[in-house]
Amino acid sequence: MHAKDRHKPVLLDREDLAATKILIVDDSEDMRELLRTYLLKAGYSNIFTATSAEQAYQLLHYSEDKEDLAPESPAVDLILMDIIMPGTTGVDACHKIRTIACYKDTPIIMISAATDISLLSAAFSNGATDYIKKPIRKIELLARISVALRLQREMAYRNAWEKELVKLTEQLQEANKKLNKLSNTDALTGIANRRLFDEKIEYEWKLARRSQQPLSLIMVDIDHFKNYNDSFGHQAGDECLKQVAAALKHTLRRPADFVARYGGEEFSVIIPETDGKTASEIAETLRSAVAALHIPQARPDNNEWVTISLGVSSCMPNGEQTIQNLIALADKALYKAKHAGRNRVVMA
Ligand code: GH3
Ligand code: MG
Ligand code: MG
Repeated sequence: MHAKDRHKPVLLDREDLAATKILIVDDSEDMRELLRTYLLKAGYSNIFTATSAEQAYQLLHYSEDKEDLAPESPAVDLILMDIIMPGTTGVDACHKIRTIACYKDTPIIMISAATDISLLSAAFSNGATDYIKKPIRKIELLARISVALRLQREMAYRNAWEKELVKLTEQLQEANKKLNKLSNTDALTGIANRRLFDEKIEYEWKLARRSQQPLSLIMVDIDHFKNYNDSFGHQAGDECLKQVAAALKHTLRRPADFVARYGGEEFSVIIPETDGKTASEIAETLRSAVAALHIPQARPDNNEWVTISLGVSSCMPNGEQTIQNLIALADKALYKAKHAGRNRVVMA
């Protein structure tokens, strides 16, 4: 169903009338004939008649013996049902038909004599849609049928629309999830990107300030990476970046620890609820994990394997300190690590 169909007026045109299947259930032949004639004249041409409830069930493709073989789609669109019939009454038939799933919403209009008031209320509590009183007046019959059919069609539209809406909402949520993930992920290494880092450090900072827990940060930079790229090519450099990122990610044990690609060949690691000393120890495990990858360095006179330098900063966030401060301190420590010979951890 299309969104534009949603507001289509529910009017029945000639084609609709011709296609509408109506079942008349009445034991009186005169009544069946009268109803049929009125309906045919009005343009309804698909009319079925049954003389009893049992015959009606047959026409509805329903068998009381084979309840598990219920029809999947309705054989008719509307039922006109005499309220009093020998054998199964119209009320009981109405009740039974309502138990068949595909006739749950099919309009059932009862035909009653003026004296059938108590039966009518039973019919309504058994699922009847409406009623018309004998003697039948053509205009009343056609009006009731038309209203019932339009109402049912409106309901069907609405149900289909709601289903569509649920489906669309699910698709949208799924797309949003993917988009969110994409916008937080570094395309090359698959770990978090700078955007998510900025969000995360803000969050952890506030949390640490509230709970008065230390917050530590490690800035990581690959040593002599320009050499590596120049010697092995940019693609090999990319591969190296991926391996280093994966090693950093897998070496961090606690779920709260967080690593992001900060930019280029730099990474940043957030270690919540941890002081500088412990954070330095964690930095050391990261350093040795990367060295243990044994990625051959381009110029072995520097280092035999690709290595990283790390700067650690730590603080107890309060009113005076800022995140920028924490980052600047870690950067400074990293700079010191580079100058002290690389492949090492320096604590701010
Ligand atoms: P240092 O030990 O002092 O850190 O030296 P370095 O050569 O690692 O530092 P420098 O900042 O001079 O060079 C960084 C290099 O990282 C240069 C740049 O081409 C490379 N790089 C940055 N991002 C990428 C990337 O996405 N892929 C590849 N292959 N190389 C990158
Ligand atoms: Mg760098
Ligand atoms: Mg570098």
